[in-house]
Amino acid sequence: MVKLTEGRGKELFRKYGVPVPRGRVAASAEEVERAVRAGEVPLPCVLKAQVLAGGRGKGGAVRFASTPEEARSAAAAILGSRFAGETVREVIVEEKVAIGRELYVSFALDRTARLPLLMTSARGGVEIESVDAGQIDRQTIEPFPGLAAYERRRAARSLGVAGPLAGELDRLLTALYRLYDSEDAELVEINPLAVVGDKLLALDAKVIIEDDAAFRHPEYAALHDDRTPLEELAREKEIAFVQLDGNIGVIANGAGLTMATLDVLKEFGGAPGVFLDLGGTDDPKKVTEAFLLMAQAKPKAVFLNIFGGVTRCDTVANGLVTALGSVPPHERFPLVARIRGNNEAEGIAILRAAGVTSVPDLRASAEAVVAAAREAR
Ligand code: GDP
Ligand code: MN
Repeated sequence: MVKLTEGRGKELFRKYGVPVPRGRVAASAEEVERAVRAGEVPLPCVLKAQVLAGGRGKGGAVRFASTPEEARSAAAAILGSRFAGETVREVIVEEKVAIGRELYVSFALDRTARLPLLMTSARGGVEIESVDAGQIDRQTIEPFPGLAAYERRRAARSLGVAGPLAGELDRLLTALYRLYDSEDAELVEINPLAVVGDKLLALDAKVIIEDDAAFRHPEYAALHDDRTPLEELAREKEIAFVQLDGNIGVIANGAGLTMATLDVLKEFGGAPGVFLDLGGTDDPKKVTEAFLLMAQAKPKAVFLNIFGGVTRCDTVANGLVTALGSVPPHERFPLVARIRGNNEAEGIAILRAAGVTSVPDLRASAEAVVAAAREAR
């Protein structure tokens, strides 16, 4: 998943003819002040943290300024701050517009229908997840003929858009669908799409490029804005590895067991910090690499929850013991293991010989790791 920053998203919007406010991305408060003084960004202006997380409006990461000095100090306050676990390195500064209404428009890949899905709602400006389903209009699009005129008209009705604005919306939807299609996006979202007089302006831009089309877009290969350095390293080693905000590391196999393990930890008051899905690997070297990666994430405790199917318990146990031996002493972490399934007894014996106890009960093992993380703090 290549999630583009708002700045890059808006560049694409401009390229395809989706109207956006005048503005730019800046990396320092001085740059912001200069851009405003030079008239590149009209006053009053909006300043937003360029981060991949949403909810900036609510979270205080959107500010307004009416003088160059104000713009400078607003940028200084945003840059370097942290938002949703990310340090803000860039700020978006653009003209502040007088919003009439805030609408919602998106094209997303509906994987169940196997078709693009156009969603529109007159309740824009808030997270779409919080809008009643009844207030969101959904239309699947036939990709061969593409977005049809009657679908655009239905979208206009659902948004309460009529008159000259309807023509604007028609052009905007056509342009946005073309972007979605040509760039192989899995999501293009405008929230809010602002009604400003008789114009429409995309105040925000969320664009996610479909991974399976990456080979058609070498231009995105260098953009892994959404991955942490460790996640990037994991990707190179082809290990499914995701960093979260908590302090407990999870090593499991298979997406289902991994997700269930995260849920169980939460259930017992734990906070998963990083999870790693060993998948069906049967290769002790891979298990070792996974452990070394885990060690670098510096978890307070690690929960190893493995079902031995394709990956037999003894293989995992062997990999684990080798891996533990190669983790430098200062990077070691308390470990609670639970391995069940094929060759379980052999696996448990290998672990025990290395001083690691396997707790067969799921609750008991989850409680043990939550307690271990708490003690380590
Ligand atoms: P998000 O909260 O992270 O999705 O950030 P957005 O870019 O969507 O901005 C959040 C909110 O800031 C919007 O819903 C608007 O209410 C407000 N906002 C953003 N740009 C402008 C602007 O030009 N004028 C006005 N009046 N409000 C704005
Ligand atoms: Mn938004």
